[in-house]
Amino acid sequence: MGGDTPTDGSSNTDTDTELNSSAATGGDGTAAESDDAFTYNGGRVDPGESANIRYGISETYLGDPIRVPVTIINGAKRGPTVCLSAAAHGDELNGIEVVREVAHDWDHSELHGTLVCLPVMNVPGFLAQERYLPIYDRDLNRSFPGREGSTSARRMAYQIFTNFIEPCDLGIDFHTSTRGRTNMLHVRADLDNPTVVRLANAFSSNVIIGGDGPSGTLRSEATEAGIPTITVEMGEAHRFQRRLIDRALTGVASVLAEFGCHRESAVHWPGWRVVITDDDEKTWLRADAGGIVDMKHGRGALVEEGDVICTITNPFKEEDDIVAVEAPFTGLIVGVLENPVVYPGNPLCHLVGLERDTRTALEREQRTERSRSELR
Ligand SMILES: [Zn+2]
Repeated sequence: MGGDTPTDGSSNTDTDTELNSSAATGGDGTAAESDDAFTYNGGRVDPGESANIRYGISETYLGDPIRVPVTIINGAKRGPTVCLSAAAHGDELNGIEVVREVAHDWDHSELHGTLVCLPVMNVPGFLAQERYLPIYDRDLNRSFPGREGSTSARRMAYQIFTNFIEPCDLGIDFHTSTRGRTNMLHVRADLDNPTVVRLANAFSSNVIIGGDGPSGTLRSEATEAGIPTITVEMGEAHRFQRRLIDRALTGVASVLAEFGCHRESAVHWPGWRVVITDDDEKTWLRADAGGIVDMKHGRGALVEEGDVICTITNPFKEEDDIVAVEAPFTGLIVGVLENPVVYPGNPLCHLVGLERDTRTALEREQRTERSRSELR
């Protein structure tokens, strides 16, 4: 590592590590050896140990370190190294709670392999509660894998990528919808990569959207670098949404079961699943008029072709000016506007088409959920 970046801290006065020896090395023949230590610049975490690290990736205008929180849990037994990351966009909070609960509330005494938990990657954005790095509004999630000696965003991305992503075998990166919108919990995955497909299926979301992702995203760059990675999209910015967090925790447990990290857990099947490829019907419906939106359906709703999804009105609610937006095909509303105002061209909802079988399973689930909530 070059010594001229301010954050390249092998001396690391800006990197605090608290080591806890949490488990003895197992004696069942699958025990990891000290070669299985997780190492990063300036530190190591041996099998059977965990560490809470604050790792310096940049410096503020005051010259103080900007440090990302990282928890490394190195299991006593051999297995894959799995990265769980969140808040590459600083105001997308649901994933932070997912990563923290896995890292700090779960029992990992029987863990095979290592978990690398990055609950808040975009620290400046998180502090400002903004999506982008507040430094020239750079998108950290278009800056991976990063580069030494480049822009501030790329230097930060580089520190995160080389130290904590590259040593991993698999990754799950948690996001939410952009501010003012919300989405169903779904997985985005490169369906041409067999391990990514296995990971996406194991996460057990109802909806998987295929595609290799824009360049510079953690998902596409990590996958390209040989670390199969999926993105999980869940809910809206600036919130903890408990039901979605619980669904995501089920997904993580299922992935850890599928890849042999938590052998006592089972792989979960979501009940129904729709996998959207490039050939399938899917569209972001956009407003053709400016105005105030009355949305008739929420995320996860099933709409029939021709159903009115929303109306757009002017401040006087003049009848002649009411624009009704209809579903162009029967489908599932995966993402939807929350902040009910639009310019022409702004997105209203993300609609994906459904096969008959999927639709039947979804309707059955929605009926069951309705009857469950009526019983409460
Ligand atoms: Zn995001």
